[in-house]
Amino acid sequence: MSFNLSNFFKGTSVKEANLKRDLFSRILYATILTMSATLILGLLLQKHLYFIITNVAILIFLAILLIIRRLSEQTFMQKRIYVTFCFVMGCFLLPLLYIFGGGIHSGIPLLFMMIGITTILLLDNITLVLIFASTVIVPNIAYYLDQELHYCDKYTVLGDFTFIDIALTTSFVGPFIGLFLRDLINRFEENQTKANDLLGRIENAATKDPLTGAYNRRYLIEYIDSCIAQVDSGELGAFSILMFDIDHFKNVNDTYGHLAGDDCIKSLALILQSSLRKVDVVSRYGGEEFICVLPSAEDTPAFRRAEQIRTTVENTILSQSIDKKITVSGGVAMYKPGMTAEELIEAADSNLYIAKENGRNQIVWHNGGIPPLVYAVYGASSLQPVHNSGRRFSDATKF
Ligand code: GH3
Ligand code: MG
Ligand code: MG
Repeated sequence: MSFNLSNFFKGTSVKEANLKRDLFSRILYATILTMSATLILGLLLQKHLYFIITNVAILIFLAILLIIRRLSEQTFMQKRIYVTFCFVMGCFLLPLLYIFGGGIHSGIPLLFMMIGITTILLLDNITLVLIFASTVIVPNIAYYLDQELHYCDKYTVLGDFTFIDIALTTSFVGPFIGLFLRDLINRFEENQTKANDLLGRIENAATKDPLTGAYNRRYLIEYIDSCIAQVDSGELGAFSILMFDIDHFKNVNDTYGHLAGDDCIKSLALILQSSLRKVDVVSRYGGEEFICVLPSAEDTPAFRRAEQIRTTVENTILSQSIDKKITVSGGVAMYKPGMTAEELIEAADSNLYIAKENGRNQIVWHNGGIPPLVYAVYGASSLQPVHNSGRRFSDATKF
């Protein structure tokens, strides 16, 4: 992977305009505070006149920026203010303050550092590269003048106020950096929460049905595929699916209206969700058809569960506006090695057809055949063996 300087600098700066505005506010107020303190101290300690003049010039400059910043809301103007602040402070005013304020023994180098951080946080692209370079080069020229030519000595007695200068500057610079970081972390966390929330909503929209909150068909197929893979690899012993369809639902819609019909669909979803385990997946397969996936369940427990659901539906008022009993029919199928998700659904669907054909309000498995165990549990009378006709029952029984 090749190194891209422009991307590197883009990546280092803070992208969001509002965040930059807030950050710059803090920097501006903090700098005004520092410079006011430096001025008061300079006057008390009777520093060189040039130091006082430079300090006053910085305060005037910062006040002007503050006014322009307040007056102008436009982003392009804000960007110009950031550039002006970084450039003028880093390349002119602070180097002058350094020279007139005691050179390397003053606390000004720490302020150079602050301007460097500010530049990286606020500027982008080529402006960032140029200003950052200038804010490194110019202070180094000042260091050179100080070191080699003893230029600063002309204005200060070397080391006179070193302790106070450094104490004062560090007292401000430390909290500034702390504020920057706190601000960044807060914003980062805020954005992270928003991103997670959005991701959750996208995931929900992509996998769930908006009417019932049940999973959609796409998720169902993916889930069945993952169960198949688990059974095939030996991770999962078995799994079964249950398919339900509301009986005579067209008539429900025709007689009581679509809203009442929607209520039934929602209530059925709730019954399914509350009757099954957390690991089971309830999905809305079509209009009023639901498929539930029961991992680890062989056909017998799956059938029992389906029967229990069928009875619950029969004994529940699915919509307050419907005064007739609503029932469901169901088909059960257990996964057998080699089956695809579609074939498994097809197996449950053909059992469902049989249930419809055989009179509805019943659950069918094993192509309508009833294994001996079920006779013992439910009795032969409630479950008559039937043959799979392979076609959908379609009478139009009216309510
Ligand atoms: P059967 O007993 O054979 O299932 O008869 P049925 O009338 O229920 O027939 P079918 O299952 O084919 O009917 C599906 C009906 O479901 C057709 C359609 O009007 C209705 N439907 C599909 N989606 C919705 C929905 O979101 N809301 C409502 N209210 N009705 C829907
Ligand atoms: Mg139906
Ligand atoms: Mg249907």
